[in-house]
Amino acid sequence: MDAIYKTLLFDGKISLTVIESTQIVNKAIKYHGLTPLTSAALGRAMTASLFMASNLKNKSDRLSVTISGDGPGGQIIVSADSNLSVRGYVENPSVNLPLNEKGKLDVKGLVGKGRITVVRNMGLKEPYSGSCELVSGELAEDFAYYYTVSEQEPTAMALGVLTSAKGKCLGAGGVIMQALPGCDYETAKKAEEIILGYTDISSLIKKIGAKGICELHFAGVEFSERKPRYKCVCSKKYINSMMVALGKEELYDILREQGEIRVECEYCDKTYVYNKDDVDKLLGIING
Ligand SMILES: [Zn+2]
Repeated sequence: MDAIYKTLLFDGKISLTVIESTQIVNKAIKYHGLTPLTSAALGRAMTASLFMASNLKNKSDRLSVTISGDGPGGQIIVSADSNLSVRGYVENPSVNLPLNEKGKLDVKGLVGKGRITVVRNMGLKEPYSGSCELVSGELAEDFAYYYTVSEQEPTAMALGVLTSAKGKCLGAGGVIMQALPGCDYETAKKAEEIILGYTDISSLIKKIGAKGICELHFAGVEFSERKPRYKCVCSKKYINSMMVALGKEELYDILREQGEIRVECEYCDKTYVYNKDDVDKLLGIING
């Protein structure tokens, strides 16, 4: 079961988060037809974004993460909110690359060099935007580096996605530790070493789940538990406003050429279809 577990360790100097996101990744695979490689990249990005979202304070807070690399995968876009709904897509979902020299999925090759940008919308305040260079392309290190540099919160992160030969996700998730204010160097180092021990987090999630990691590796520690999910927030109302923004001329041009206007949501499998009557109504033009 997908879940996010949180607790404090080392006298409250370190926060620990354990995430299981297998079902979320399977939903993304279903919507986007991802390959094992693009599943790994998007799955890692969605897991890290859920971690970020789990730290949002207010009910209406939300964030978006854009990973813009020069690799063949194109951009990876994820958005998540404080209710732990997440959605995302990869620009080129069908890309496949040979395994890397370690025999693993070449996420670094897929992503390439570039930047990671995070925008947080918090109520009426101006959106907060932070950005830094990708240091690895494998994404766990990149998100950890982003936190450490852009948010001044030293962070260590292990992320993983395991898929079957048929392309189904068998295990996905992450283990994340963050040094809290007042944390000393030795304690931060210890936390980092624990994270370095999670070299195959996706197989571990497949075997014992996030709950098993909490119970077996942190026995006796109390965790809070929340449920994340893949959820798209697209709506007819939102698509209507996008259509109006396109402008009358553009809309009637498409109608003339194609007979109808089809808008496919990038995040889920919904398609919104408009015929001429719909467009007339939308623009307030009365027939005849
Ligand atoms: Zn949608």
